[in-house]
Amino acid sequence: MSIAIQITYLISSIFFIYGIKKLSSPKTARKGNLYSATGMLLAIVVTLLDQNVLTYEWIIIGGVIGSLIGAVLALKIKMTGMPQMVGLLNGFGGGASLLVALSEYYKITYAMPLNTGVAILLSLLIGSVTFTGSLIAFGKLQGIVTGKVVHYPGQHLINVLLFIFVIGAGVYLLMNPANVTLILIITGVSLVLGILLVLPIGGADMPVAVSLLNSYSGLAAATTGFILENNVLIIAGALVGASGIILTLIMCRGMNRSLMNVVLGGWANAGATDGASGEGDGPKGDVKSVDAEELAMILEVASNVIIVPGYGMAVAQAQHAVRELMLALEDKDINVRFAVHPVAGRMPGHMNVLLAEANVPYDKLFALEDINNDFANTDVAIVIGANDVVNPAARNDKSSPIYGMPILNVDYAKTVVINKRSLNPGYAGIANELFFGDNSLMFFGDAKDAIGKLTSEIKNL
Ligand code: NDP
Repeated sequence: MSIAIQITYLISSIFFIYGIKKLSSPKTARKGNLYSATGMLLAIVVTLLDQNVLTYEWIIIGGVIGSLIGAVLALKIKMTGMPQMVGLLNGFGGGASLLVALSEYYKITYAMPLNTGVAILLSLLIGSVTFTGSLIAFGKLQGIVTGKVVHYPGQHLINVLLFIFVIGAGVYLLMNPANVTLILIITGVSLVLGILLVLPIGGADMPVAVSLLNSYSGLAAATTGFILENNVLIIAGALVGASGIILTLIMCRGMNRSLMNVVLGGWANAGATDGASGEGDGPKGDVKSVDAEELAMILEVASNVIIVPGYGMAVAQAQHAVRELMLALEDKDINVRFAVHPVAGRMPGHMNVLLAEANVPYDKLFALEDINNDFANTDVAIVIGANDVVNPAARNDKSSPIYGMPILNVDYAKTVVINKRSLNPGYAGIANELFFGDNSLMFFGDAKDAIGKLTSEIKNL
């Protein structure tokens, strides 16, 4: 391969790394996307110009069909459906690595060098697990597969045995490469392993699993890079693998969970909370509720307000209404800021993206660690469709499954207003004592409607 191709690959890799760096802030994220896409375009063009490509027709047909499907999906998918979309795309990445590994094996069956053989087997194993695991993750998030934690007798033993089988059969195959049946069996077992590894994980933990699978898809791509001796694929795969695992750990830290706890199906009730009520064994007491007019009067005398968005804001698509509320409050000389919990919503950055879409300035968005101490000096905290991320049980109740999880201390504000439709728990399925606090006011209703009404009342004051 010529030196020019290698240098272009190096330039592509620099674009990828620079792109990832830019993705670390909402202000520069668009540029980051563009840099990474440019790097990818360069890498693809150079690979296609490489002498190994004999005919272009299938590549063009595949490229056009794939681009069309990708564009339609990207345009149609709602923001709330993004985690399952990412899950599906990871799966395709793993599936692609699996197919490349299989086809390379068929090309060199009888003369498989040891290093290529190891790369083929790793690519098959990781690619297959990523493929079926991601399909299950997609199914869970889409509600096609049960969102409950699935436990069955001997599940860990079965997984370990299947893994040992793949490794053992792989070693045998390296010594006897011309065994087509065996490689198909290894592939089949790896595909089953992907299903069994993801099925036990509860629906609420699925975004973490998707992030982990994202990391796997990168590793699969990197091993495929070793098979094809393609440096840019190795680098890009390693970048995806590393960033995926970093994101996974950030999410686990945001929920105060260990990765093992998530992978082994930690929150037993997670994902099974539909229709659950906040009554039962949870905190009890009187709930005070307000309507839009009363709330507008409370806000009229406030100087500082912090808005805390959560999953409910995303479901209601209330981000534009929330921006209108911010403008109406600022018109009354009230200082408005937003507090964004690292796992608010259903994926990292969910709230930032929605608020950015509604043109809420970035400098009004504060991360948990930058704003949590300010709640005590805040007149009104307005929680919009958030629940778990403001649940004081994480601080107060040692028996709570979310005990130790960092939360936004909205209950320290002089008044905390919670907008949601009912007293139902959030995704973790845990009742919330915040609703019963002395300084708490429930503002019931769909976020978009309720916030719209509140804004009108504020404007009428
Ligand atoms: P929650 O799921 O805790 O709560 C969302 C609340 O929104 C619900 O209680 C619901 O109450 C309310 N809601 C739903 N629809 C509407 C609507 N149309 N209008 C108004 N309110 C509505 O969300 P949080 O953002 O507080 O917490 C995120 C959860 O997801 C945490 O448990 C977190 O650990 C988990 N998670 C997040 C990940 C991430 O990366 N972001 C990853 C993995 C898990 P009601 O039905 O009464 O309206």
